[in-house]
Amino acid sequence: MRTEARLDLIRGSAARRRHDARTIAALTRNPGCNRRAVLDAAGVDKDGLSRHIGFAAPFGQSQFAIIRGNAFEARVRNDGGTDLLRLLADCLGFDLGPAGSPGVTVLDLGASAEQDGGVRPAAENLADRLDRTVTALRPDPHGIVLVAHPLLALPVGGQDVHLEPDLLVIRPDGQFHVVEIKSFPVVDGQADGEKVAAAAVQAAVYVLALRRMLRAREVVPTVPMMPVVPPATVSHDVVLVCPRDFSNAPLATRVDVRRQLLGLEHQLTRLATIEALLDDLPADLTFDLAAGPDGAPTRPATELTTGLDLLDARYTPDCLSTCELAFRCRHEAAGRTAALGASVREDLGGIDTVTEALDLAHGTRAPAEDQAEAAERLRITARMYAEALAGASHPPGGADG
Ligand code: SF4
Repeated sequence: MRTEARLDLIRGSAARRRHDARTIAALTRNPGCNRRAVLDAAGVDKDGLSRHIGFAAPFGQSQFAIIRGNAFEARVRNDGGTDLLRLLADCLGFDLGPAGSPGVTVLDLGASAEQDGGVRPAAENLADRLDRTVTALRPDPHGIVLVAHPLLALPVGGQDVHLEPDLLVIRPDGQFHVVEIKSFPVVDGQADGEKVAAAAVQAAVYVLALRRMLRAREVVPTVPMMPVVPPATVSHDVVLVCPRDFSNAPLATRVDVRRQLLGLEHQLTRLATIEALLDDLPADLTFDLAAGPDGAPTRPATELTTGLDLLDARYTPDCLSTCELAFRCRHEAAGRTAALGASVREDLGGIDTVTEALDLAHGTRAPAEDQAEAAERLRITARMYAEALAGASHPPGGADG
């Protein structure tokens, strides 16, 4: 069976969940997790799956945040984006030319998928939209080009994933900038560090996709009717547009995503190809969530859980903020040292369970040859911990000292 057909079977009758920059960023934070790689490639509704098997996790944006985000984006794009353009010009340092000059071309290539909750509209023709984007990706030596809602493609685990940045700015000198409109506020010049970090990784996904598309298709050099076209480069400087302070007024901030790009490229090369993962799975594996007359999935939860057990997971505490299946995987990994995070996994290499680690720390179990070093560290830590506890309960000069 072809890969696409197998992925369709795994997803079943439900609408396909689309990858986006957020899910790719999450996937690359845990590239060793085959469970997520297969479910995401098949477009399985992980949220619905985790709810049906009794491990619903509070995950994703609240409805309130989505509404607030859409209102802010509409506000920013108001008036044909005149304010936004001025902000971007200030932020990126380009000249808009005298008032009324034909120095800016705005191209809107389609509606954002976020409006449909990430489910691909059946009628959408991705190939057409991709072609329109490729045609639009060219600098104009006489002015700025703004491309809204372009569609980009990025191979992930051997499959093309389609992505929708909010906006691209193409400068006359051939430099491209990714622009993302976010609804988290910047108050007194400071924003929530975690949200900025997540937005920077998502923007880096777009930069990477754009670079690869331009390189692969050689878009700019082959554009006809444009004899003098500067070479295209995609800048590592992206722009985040956020609400300023407690208002709805937008603020544009330039963010350097070189570090995020290095991490992404490294992690993407570590993702196993989907074909190789499917080869090890039963041909009839499915996570079909087909609903009955009452709207609830008809499939017994135990069958889905058995299916999940066939997919190797690699739970880390990070999963709690990046994956809908986190509660199920945490439950499964309970008692294992690897579940405590990457640094614990490295420090306790060869010691698989917490019980084993405690026994080694207290000297009630003899370490195997490959555990000797870690066991010694555990014993020292346990001794120091016991001494600290004893010191705390008998402070010098205390009531009983
Ligand atoms: S929660 Fe589970 S499926 Fe999701 S990334 Fe973590 S280990 Fe993988």
